[in-house]
Amino acid sequence: MSRVFLSLGSNLGDRLSNIQQAVSSLGMSEHIKIIKTSSFYETQPWGNKDQEWFINAAVALDTDLTCEALLELCQNIEIQLGRIRRENEKWAQRAIDIDILMYDDKLISKGSELIVPHPLMHLRAFVLVPMLEVKSDLVHPVFNKTISELYDELADPEDVFLYGTVLPR
Ligand code: ATP
Ligand code: CA
Ligand code: CA
Repeated sequence: MSRVFLSLGSNLGDRLSNIQQAVSSLGMSEHIKIIKTSSFYETQPWGNKDQEWFINAAVALDTDLTCEALLELCQNIEIQLGRIRRENEKWAQRAIDIDILMYDDKLISKGSELIVPHPLMHLRAFVLVPMLEVKSDLVHPVFNKTISELYDELADPEDVFLYGTVLPR
């Protein structure tokens, strides 16, 4: 069994339902046991800022799938939920995005097809804030730093709000 951490995001259609359906599809696989799901966060788009805000969450799970097989399953769920990939469109709006953040403490690099830990996770508040809730003391095997330490070191954290909370006037 391997312990895996995923980041999920949606900024198209019913964002909350897309994320909930993705988590429930993952949980329906006989190869996956969901260990913990974070709260939902509403987050400012990263990279390509000219689009709708995202809802993001993080999930911890145990699986007997290889990392490659898990990626394939995640990509199938993305397609089922209506993700459309267009050529030359980086960081475009999407109904669902499922990224593998970490797979045990393995370092995986299969060309650009599969890189684990996810090469941008340490730079993204929309990944680190949900992960603080799931496992703040998880150690990133490249930087040898915890999720909390990586979050504290973010130079330019984009806005991340707990979804559904009413902000004070
Ligand atoms: P980013 O990876 O910067 O968050 P993105 O999620 O928008 O960007 P996608 O279009 O969803 O990028 O994925 C592009 C490719 O990234 C996928 O085809 C997949 O093979 C590859 N990939 C590499 N490493 C990972 C990983 N750790 N998790 C998910 N996909 C990965
Ligand atoms: Ca992504
Ligand atoms: Ca992705």
